[in-house]
Amino acid sequence: MDIVDGKAIGSRLLAAPRPEPSRVREVLARACEFKGLPDEDVLTLLAVEDPELLQECFAAARAAKREIYGNRIVYFAPLYISNLCGNDCPYCAFRAANKTLPRRALSQDEIRQETEELIDQGHKRVLMVSGEAYPKDGLRYIFDSIRTVYSVRKAHGNIRRVNVNIAPLSVDDFRLLQKEGIGTYQCFQETYHEPTYRRLHRKGSKADYRNRLEVMDRALEAGIHDVGIGALFGLSDWRFEVLAMLGHIRHLEERFGVGPHTISVPRLEPALGSEMSRQPPHAVSDRDFLKLVATLRLAVPYTGMILSTRESVAIRRQALELGISQISAGSRTDPGGYSAGDQPESGQFSVGDSRSLGEVVADVLEQGHIPSFCTGCYRLGRVGKDFMDLAKPGLIKAHCLPNALLTFAEYLCDFAGPELSRKGFATIDRMVETEVLGPGLRSKVRGMLERVRSGERDIYL
Ligand code: SAM
Ligand code: SF4
Repeated sequence: MDIVDGKAIGSRLLAAPRPEPSRVREVLARACEFKGLPDEDVLTLLAVEDPELLQECFAAARAAKREIYGNRIVYFAPLYISNLCGNDCPYCAFRAANKTLPRRALSQDEIRQETEELIDQGHKRVLMVSGEAYPKDGLRYIFDSIRTVYSVRKAHGNIRRVNVNIAPLSVDDFRLLQKEGIGTYQCFQETYHEPTYRRLHRKGSKADYRNRLEVMDRALEAGIHDVGIGALFGLSDWRFEVLAMLGHIRHLEERFGVGPHTISVPRLEPALGSEMSRQPPHAVSDRDFLKLVATLRLAVPYTGMILSTRESVAIRRQALELGISQISAGSRTDPGGYSAGDQPESGQFSVGDSRSLGEVVADVLEQGHIPSFCTGCYRLGRVGKDFMDLAKPGLIKAHCLPNALLTFAEYLCDFAGPELSRKGFATIDRMVETEVLGPGLRSKVRGMLERVRSGERDIYL
């Protein structure tokens, strides 16, 4: 399987000319049909340097974002359950050789406690994260942990969707993972540039480049519906990674009829005991980072894009406008971090945005976005290809906006102070009147919102 043709991507990047403004505008006109872009057009956008033209690219990305996702932003929190790891990725604090890091795999009781903390903050989705060495019962530990998270019930609800970011599995193990009711299986290629990948991952299970590259094929083969890909930006040329990710997406679409549910765009951040993380070999400037977010938005408009708290408040604000559809907030990157309450140095990397979920929600609302805690599609089985078949002709929107408003209303009732609550409900009422289309749907949503305000929970379309 030739999932990514690294040589061809390298030569195309070398041969790419600085584009004429007329060529860039021609590509942007095509991009604004929101049907995605071929690689030649992506190459053109990646090569834009002129500040004025770059602003035009950003305007097109903003338009794509608004057209397809409206102003909704979905929230999640990472839940680090273990930092035990047998690999030695030189950029990561969890690598085996880092003897300065206190090691810990949470017990099921501790996972329950962490889950309670997240529910009390207002979260409804978590991304379970682990290093690649499980305590004595192996993968059973991951399965038990997922069950534990789903089992926790508090007065203000429960976690409704557990996504996982764990090391690549075999098809058989993915089948078992699927039975635990996960949402998305997420795994980052780190770098698609094979020589760089091999140089950085010399030992342990992660040394096998193809095993990692083919992981999403195995997950989809095993019946996992939603997969999330990503590259760790800073390890190799960012333009190479963008083109390779698009090649990966094309491969999955051709083979399975559906691409990844999400793309993540983590940038390398300082990590305890990692020289490399402090001086990334291919550091990506803020401007290039925003350019890559905008380009991906235009190239694959229907694939969700995730931004974590690795990024600063200022970059997060800009990236939301340019195409990000999901963000984490209030994150801790060390096992047990939510219960401990502080932000220790011993996380997986240092976070750029340490605000609480409440602070991020208030800020995002102020910026004109609607915070969403929706998990409706996953729970109604609108996943994988079924989801994309509804999303591409624009049919999913009739569900997404009402569900975003309903879950935001829940958040306001259960977790917000009076000021945020007033502003939030005013926005919800305005959105119902102006954005929920059709009098039938509008009156249905009004009725459902009334039920939420009177205490009913977990209602969705
Ligand atoms: N251990 C599994 C693996 O490597 O696939 C899954 C979890 S790992 C903790 C999650 C991701 O964190 C990695 O795939 C990597 O991209 C990212 N990461 C590692 N070190 C980082 C750093 N210094 N800055 C930002 N992200 C980092
Ligand atoms: Fe381990 Fe994953 Fe960190 Fe590599 S990135 S050291 S595999 S936790």
